[in-house]
Amino acid sequence: MRAARYHGIGDVRIEECEPSAVGPGEVRIDVAAAGICGSDLHQYRHGPDGLGADEPHPLTGETLPVRLGHEFGGTVVEAGREVDLAAGQPVAVNPVRSCGACRYCTDGLYHLCETAGFIGLHGGEGGFAAEAVIPAANAVPFPADLPAAHSALVEPFAVAVHAVRGSGLRAGDSAAVVGAGPIGLALVQAARAAGAGEVLVSEPQRVRRDAAAQQGADAVFDPADDPVEGITAATDGGADVAFEASGSEAGLRQALGATRRRGETVVVGVFAAPAELQPTLLVAGERTVTGSLGYASGPNAGREFGMTIGMFERGRLDPGAVVTGRIGLEGLVERGIEPLAAGGSDHCKLLVEP
Ligand SMILES: [Zn+2]
Ligand SMILES: [Zn+2]
Repeated sequence: MRAARYHGIGDVRIEECEPSAVGPGEVRIDVAAAGICGSDLHQYRHGPDGLGADEPHPLTGETLPVRLGHEFGGTVVEAGREVDLAAGQPVAVNPVRSCGACRYCTDGLYHLCETAGFIGLHGGEGGFAAEAVIPAANAVPFPADLPAAHSALVEPFAVAVHAVRGSGLRAGDSAAVVGAGPIGLALVQAARAAGAGEVLVSEPQRVRRDAAAQQGADAVFDPADDPVEGITAATDGGADVAFEASGSEAGLRQALGATRRRGETVVVGVFAAPAELQPTLLVAGERTVTGSLGYASGPNAGREFGMTIGMFERGRLDPGAVVTGRIGLEGLVERGIEPLAAGGSDHCKLLVEP
């Protein structure tokens, strides 16, 4: 069976792997699709996070290489003992694994687990493969009447749903989204679904600005044209809530600058480097900056995933709109990771259909 494995910076290989046996509490999934995520690109460019060739991940105990792909879904083809899911059941994978014992896990905040690890980043069987054996607890039922490939999009959309739910955004509020990659676009959709009165987007790439406008942004700005001024003017002094989804210092500065006094900036982007911010904006305007990570996980794996799936079903979210291409497993590096990691690609979410 072919599967992608991450060996280190700039090194992802499609290799022949022995299929593993399905143990108690596990399921084998025939993968329908797996999305290439900013975290995959981050690891590819900047190196592994939380494990190494000689340094086991604290939760999974695995070392490099690891199987890659954490945004995926498919159909259960084999279920182990003590599993409620039957063969034939479509599922979306909530890839977060948590220890169940640290203070965050015991508080029910499994996604903040001190040793949390992702299937497909930190060990386990990732989704860039024909099939994957995973704990049944990580498999969330997905409706059979939705496109099977959309099961791979529950994960990134759940990130956006979690960020909006954790923010102070209320019906009628204005929302700014900085960065219109897959997460930024999902945030545009989720903010609209949450009743935002106005959604304003800053994004350097034209195709992504157009996509944001099509997916519900009321105004889009090119960072070259001072989006802070544009957003401030369009919102009577600043957005109520800004979501930073670019992972860049410039983006953080824009998000913070574009919020009103007492406004909130939610950092969702993954930063490769420290970013400077102007604390006077916090003090003088009583602005706040918060962070948002992942989505409800562990024994709550189906909670925000379930909400997200429900919003797919009712048309509140349109996952297909962020997909710009589909490739086979063998093209993962050359047609997927490489061009996306190089930046400037016109693609947004690329799905791998192994
Ligand atoms: Zn991801
Ligand atoms: Zn824990």
